[in-house]
Amino acid sequence: MKLLEGKVAIITGASRGIGSGIAKIFAQHGANVAFTYSSSAESALVLENELSAMGIKAKGYKSNAADFNEAQKLVDDVLAEFGNVDVLINNAGITKDNLLMRMSEEDFDKVIEINLKSVFNMTKAVQKIMLKNRKGSIVNMSSVVGVKGNAGQANYAASKAGMIGFTKSVALELGSRNIRCNAIAPGFIETEMTAKLNEDVVQGWRDSIPLKRGGTPEDVANACLFFASDMSAYVSGQVLNVCGGMLT
Ligand code: NAP
Repeated sequence: MKLLEGKVAIITGASRGIGSGIAKIFAQHGANVAFTYSSSAESALVLENELSAMGIKAKGYKSNAADFNEAQKLVDDVLAEFGNVDVLINNAGITKDNLLMRMSEEDFDKVIEINLKSVFNMTKAVQKIMLKNRKGSIVNMSSVVGVKGNAGQANYAASKAGMIGFTKSVALELGSRNIRCNAIAPGFIETEMTAKLNEDVVQGWRDSIPLKRGGTPEDVANACLFFASDMSAYVSGQVLNVCGGMLT
């Protein structure tokens, strides 16, 4: 059964990692996929071709989600090209980890802008379309770190906790128009973002997770599929931890 047949989804930051996994699962389920990237033009083109080969409409856009005007222009362009927007996945994100003592103002601001302000920018931009449609699903990619905090990630944790407050507020504000907003809090998902880490540290994390492995982009993508589809028609304002039991 295809769960997103004919729906149009915008996924930010899908040139690699979790976003790319979401784009592929959505395409398998019949969604037309508009996705963004920051600089990976080559892998974006590869993904665009891979998705198109699945028989759906797909297009990659170079667009900085942290820029208010670029986010608006992106949504205008997607509307012109795809005709509608049913689902928004705010997935783009970065880390700039450091102990507070060594964290620069620039690294704090950059992480907040790309991870949190981007969610405001994109949600504002799709709001009008979803209000007109009287339906829509918005999914924000938070993190277990936004729920629990993490030493060395004060900027990242603040951005991800901010996304949760934003998610709940939007769910309350737009629920009467049948627009749902939920957040996913992935635990340790093995992507390029985590490949930068020391292998001993990574193995230590795997060992400490109840399910004894890191998550895959597909694990997160499947949770996104649930929130994007009508399977979750009565679910809004929630945070789903996809973390192998880590936060238990
Ligand atoms: P990733 O592999 O580093 O990929 C990040 C994606 O975001 C890339 O496609 C990148 O594009 C894009 N991007 C970065 N800055 C952007 C901007 N300003 N505008 C638009 N796109 C931008 O990251 P990931 O591990 O897949 O993580 C995806 C999301 O899940 C992030 O929000 C992250 O915080 C969250 N998350 C990840 C984990 C984990 O363990 N991996 C855990 C919890 C939460 P380019 O390729 O062009 O740079």
